[in-house]
Amino acid sequence: MHTLHELDHNYSSDYIETIAFYTALAENHDIIQVNEYGKTDSGHPLHEVIIDVSKSFQPNLNSVRYFVNNGIHPGEPCGIDASQQWVRSLCDGTLDAASLEGIQIILIPVYNIGGALNRGSHSRANQDGPKEYGFRGNAKNLDLNRDFIKCDSKNAQSFNQLFNKWSPQIFVDTHTSNGADYQYTMTLIPTQKDRLGGAQAELMQNDMLSYLYEKMEEKGWEMTPYVYARKTPDDGIYGFLDLARYSSGYAATHGAISFMPETHMLKPYKDRVASTKAFLESMLSYIQKNPQKIKNSYDLHIQELLKKDQFDINWTVDMEAQDAVLFKGYVAKYKPSVITGQDRLYYDRNDPYEKSIPFWNTYKSTTSIKAPTAYIIPQAYDDVIQRLKMNGVQVDQVQKDAMVTGSVYKIGDFKTRESAYEGHYLHYDIELEEMEIQKKIYAGDYIVKTQQQAKRYIIEVLEPHAPDSFFAWNFFDGILMQKEHFSSYVFEDLAVEILSKHPEIKVAFEHKKAQDSEFAENARAQLNFIYEQSPHYEYTHMLYPVMRIHN
Ligand SMILES: [Zn+2]
Repeated sequence: MHTLHELDHNYSSDYIETIAFYTALAENHDIIQVNEYGKTDSGHPLHEVIIDVSKSFQPNLNSVRYFVNNGIHPGEPCGIDASQQWVRSLCDGTLDAASLEGIQIILIPVYNIGGALNRGSHSRANQDGPKEYGFRGNAKNLDLNRDFIKCDSKNAQSFNQLFNKWSPQIFVDTHTSNGADYQYTMTLIPTQKDRLGGAQAELMQNDMLSYLYEKMEEKGWEMTPYVYARKTPDDGIYGFLDLARYSSGYAATHGAISFMPETHMLKPYKDRVASTKAFLESMLSYIQKNPQKIKNSYDLHIQELLKKDQFDINWTVDMEAQDAVLFKGYVAKYKPSVITGQDRLYYDRNDPYEKSIPFWNTYKSTTSIKAPTAYIIPQAYDDVIQRLKMNGVQVDQVQKDAMVTGSVYKIGDFKTRESAYEGHYLHYDIELEEMEIQKKIYAGDYIVKTQQQAKRYIIEVLEPHAPDSFFAWNFFDGILMQKEHFSSYVFEDLAVEILSKHPEIKVAFEHKKAQDSEFAENARAQLNFIYEQSPHYEYTHMLYPVMRIHN
């Protein structure tokens, strides 16, 4: 059975053809199952393809679970076509069935179905084929590779559940790159090692990556780390910080070693498909050789997480830690632009080079927190609870009203993006003040204990200053606006009373007036200063409502 891409190397099969291909495979082979799994924004269901020689087709905790996602960006469809050929080879005896024992492969044929249905030939202006392909935005025009935490799309909601049903140790999400020109067809983004951390980062960094690079070279598709260049590759490249909003960062938050293979847009489509298939095979080959190592590493990683107390939640590239890679590029040159008359960049394919270039791949923590034993989330935030549940998080409910002791965060300074970003006005650079308090909680509120497999995910979504927290993604914006104010003419008399009863407020007030001339001339600001320090000022303004419990 040929794939449509094999019959025409510049063709990429569409959504309907792709599902039909897997369905036909499943009719003829008993080690593959094709199921509908949840909804997508397009109205079409998401599909999971399972390859399992044990024929259980259910998650087996003793297996290596290898999860592949395709078509998140349907304009970059190499994985959609490569996976069909690869899965067929697993079914038709090209590979010895015994060599697949103990391995479960879970594959999403097309993730962004709405985007895949929106086919054209122009949206990827700089890409060499295929002749038709889908669009980056999904049915709601969201980039699904930013949606893994906020889950605005049904696609992401289904994905969260499917991913946590399988809890894979290894995850691959197939892409095509933009950017510089160079000699390689395949580039690789491994999940950021310092963010992944623990046993899984060690296995990836010290064993798996070198195997993948060697194996790909052996197959004729020498790889380079993804070319995330300063300006041109000669100036050096960075490792990519894949936060939890991205597929590989999301997978890493759940402990999976994850990769985004990115084929180069300027290479022929046939080569991009072939090199993607080679990558999927190379990964499988590593798994076949090292099943025990992978299982041990994942189990150890989770055990370490459970013991861990201090968690990094944000990172920045460490420019001091400069590494190097041997890179096969084309010399970047400049010539006058016909359009603008200014100098324009081009890469001279007649002037290839091979040289060592700087590589900054180490990230250092900028924020770390001590994990609480539990979080208490008011039941009003059911959209947050729903997302936790989709991620396999065990939540309990408070049985009866009670006063509890713990801490809460007061939101201090923060910034908000000025234009819409993926359906949100994302907050960042969030500063907090932690306060010990006694707080009333109510029957039906939710308790989320951190001592569970999803510990890392729980912390990254509930600590408001983490870059992909639910707070950052606007789930708690209600607290950012003051609901009650005062009338100056009435408050005047009360303010006098407050100052006479509270000498400490009076001292602070006089001090501010002396220091701040603008303040000294602004009557409303002065009254507001006193108001904010009085019991009339609402306690809940800027108070993050999720409580941290420490015992
Ligand atoms: Zn992409």
